[in-house]
Amino acid sequence: MQNEMSDLSRLCIHTITTKPWDVETAAKHFSAAGVKGITVWRDALQGRNIQDTGRMLRDYDLSIVSLCRGGFFPHTDAAKRMAAIDDNKRAIEEAAQLGTSLIVLVCGADPLQSLNESRKQIHDGIATVLPYAAAAGVKLAIEPLHPMYADTRSAINTLAQANDMAEALNSPWVGVAVDVYHTWWDNSLEQEISRCGKNDNLFAFHICDWKMPTTDLLLDRGLMGEGCIPIKQIRSWVETTGFNGFNEVEIFSNKYWKEDQELFLKKIVKAYAEHS
Ligand code: ZN
Repeated sequence: MQNEMSDLSRLCIHTITTKPWDVETAAKHFSAAGVKGITVWRDALQGRNIQDTGRMLRDYDLSIVSLCRGGFFPHTDAAKRMAAIDDNKRAIEEAAQLGTSLIVLVCGADPLQSLNESRKQIHDGIATVLPYAAAAGVKLAIEPLHPMYADTRSAINTLAQANDMAEALNSPWVGVAVDVYHTWWDNSLEQEISRCGKNDNLFAFHICDWKMPTTDLLLDRGLMGEGCIPIKQIRSWVETTGFNGFNEVEIFSNKYWKEDQELFLKKIVKAYAEHS
């Protein structure tokens, strides 16, 4: 049961966090637990009328914080870069249909070319889809990923690089998503969060924890309080900028996906109240 003292008004959970649940089941349980926000992963929309799904989520009094995810712009092959642009345009349409004003970008990388070349293609890819995003009223958040993912998932690996790119694109429709899992180790994190806020580029804040040891570099994220990330400190830096958006719980975990998801949701709410 929800602790009456805990403030869940800014708690958002990603659909991937409770992956065994379909989006309808997640919405029902999130809402009943007092969760106020949901970030929808595109796989959760498969085979559904997206507008109806957005309506269903709002009927549960859930704010649709963002759609995850666009990006994956870089490829050595120009035809694949074009296909990525098309996919990002589709993501923008889906976000508009769903009724969310934000898409998170996992920007991509192609190990067959330099990281600099991948970054240039990311810049050009975002610039190409930007007019479509603006027309749809959908913002794009560049999420820097931990450098262990620089091979294939993202050539944007620090908040400084994400800030550089958002500032170079210089549009109110492009900003940054800060995820503690990807950025906690960075000794310039406080200063880069401040810079991000000053430029009005701080669009989203994702939380989970880094387990010791971590047994899988993708699918072993921890609950808040279960690892070594100073989540409260990072959150305080984020809020010092004036950010008053959601704290989004994004946990990929083979361990937790095997558990009873209702019990896992209770653990999330408790961990959020105590450790974030
Ligand atoms: Zn994230």
